[in-house]
Amino acid sequence: MSAQTAPPSKKAIAASPTTPSDNRSHEPHETEATAHMNFNRITDEQFQAAADHLKLDPEIQLVLRTPYRELIVQIPVRMDDGHLELFHGYRVQHNAVRGPYKGGLRFHPEVDLNEVRSLAALMTWKTALVDIPFGGAKGGVTCDPTKMSRDELQRLTREFTRKLDMALGVYRDIPAPDVNTNPQVMAWIMDEYGKKHGYTPAIVTGKPVSLGGSLGREQATGRGTMIITREACRALKMSLKGASVAIQGFGNVGSWTARLVGEQGAKIVAVSDVHGGIHCPAGIDVTALFAHVKEEKTVLGFPGSVSITNEELLCLNVDILIPAALGGAITRENADHIQAKLVIEAANSPVTPRADEMLRQRGITVIPDILVNAGGVTVSYFEWVQNLQQFRWDEARVNDELEKRMVAAWQLVHTVATGQKLPYRIAAYCVALEKVAEATRQRY
Ligand code: GLU
Repeated sequence: MSAQTAPPSKKAIAASPTTPSDNRSHEPHETEATAHMNFNRITDEQFQAAADHLKLDPEIQLVLRTPYRELIVQIPVRMDDGHLELFHGYRVQHNAVRGPYKGGLRFHPEVDLNEVRSLAALMTWKTALVDIPFGGAKGGVTCDPTKMSRDELQRLTREFTRKLDMALGVYRDIPAPDVNTNPQVMAWIMDEYGKKHGYTPAIVTGKPVSLGGSLGREQATGRGTMIITREACRALKMSLKGASVAIQGFGNVGSWTARLVGEQGAKIVAVSDVHGGIHCPAGIDVTALFAHVKEEKTVLGFPGSVSITNEELLCLNVDILIPAALGGAITRENADHIQAKLVIEAANSPVTPRADEMLRQRGITVIPDILVNAGGVTVSYFEWVQNLQQFRWDEARVNDELEKRMVAAWQLVHTVATGQKLPYRIAAYCVALEKVAEATRQRY
C-alpha cells in the first residue's frame, strides 16, 4: 500500500476556541459572518436552544460549553518506504463532572480540532442521557487509513497512545472506536499503555473479546439504533414491520443497523458506503449483503441492485432514513428533497441546524444522534465495568441491560418532547443538560 502523502492540516493546528478554523463546508451561505458551517457551531446552536429553554444559569452554561482540556500532539511515524511522516492527533476532554472522560478516536483526513471539540461535547450529553457515569471526550488523527499499511497504522496508533499517556487513565479518560478505528486499534492502545502501566484492560473499550472486550459491543451502536427506531415508530404510530428503510453508511453502525432493523421486519431498500449506494425496491437480503461486502469490500455490485449515489439515497421515497456515515450529510442544500417521514441520526451530527428546521417545517421527525447512537458508549460502559471487576457477562445480559437503558432514555426524551411540545433533539439536550448542570452545581 502506498504511504500517506497529504500533509497534515496546518489550519487545524492554528485553531483556537475563538478562531474556528473549520475547513469543511457543510452549510454554505448560512450567515454572512461565516463562510462555512462548522461542527462546533452545529453543536453550539443545539446546546444554546436547550440552555435557553431550560433558562440555565449563564455561569453554568459557560462551564458546560467550554472544554476542560484540549491536547494537540505531534505523531512522527516511520512509513514503510523509509520516510518520516508527521501526523497530528487530538484529544478534547470536554466535561467530567459525572465521571471519567469517555469517547472514541477517529482516523480520517478531515479530522481537525473543531470537529473533535464538537464531538467531545456530544459525548458529554450522550453519556448523561443514558445515565452512565462518564463525561465526554473525543479524539482523532488527521490521516487517511485507507492509504496506510497495517504496520504503519500500528506505529501511528502506538505513538499516539504514548503521546496521550498523561491524559489517559482508567478513572480519567477511556478511549473507544469511532470512524475508521476498530477492535484491532483498541488492542494496540491497550498493549502500548500496558507496557508502561501493566495490564490495564479498562483503559480502552471496544477491544477484541479475546483481550477483554465485551460480548455485544461490536453490534451495540446498531442495536441501540434499532431499539430507538422501534420506539420512535411506536410513538409515531408507524409500523416498523414492512417499513421501507434507507441507510447511508455500511461501516460498523450502518451494517449492524441494517441487520437488526431488518430482523424487526423492516424492508432495507437502500444502503451505501464511500464508493456509492445500491437500491433494491423489493428489499435487500442483508445477510447476503454482509457476505458480498466481505468479499468485495463495497456494497456496490450487489446482485439484483441498482447503483445510486449517496445523495440519491438520502432523497429516496422511503419511510425511514438512517444517516449512519459522517456528519453534515443533510444540509439546507438537500433538506427539501428528503422524502422520509422519520430520520434516525445514527451518525454524529448528520443533520445541520438549518436542515433540522427545514425538516421540522415539513413535518419530518428527526431523532437525534445523542439518543440514537448512545448504544455504543453504553456497552463501552458495560465493558469497562466487566474489566474493573474481571468478570465477564454473557451476551444476553449485555443486550438486556442495553435494552433497559435505551428504552429508559427514550421514555425520558419522549415524555419531555410530547409534554413540552419540543422537537426530540431539544428534548434530549434538555434531559442531558439538566443532569450535567445538576452535577456541576453540586461540585461548585
Ligand atoms: N465513538 C462512539 C460514539 O460516538 C463510542 C464511544 C465510546 O464507546 O466511548 O458514541
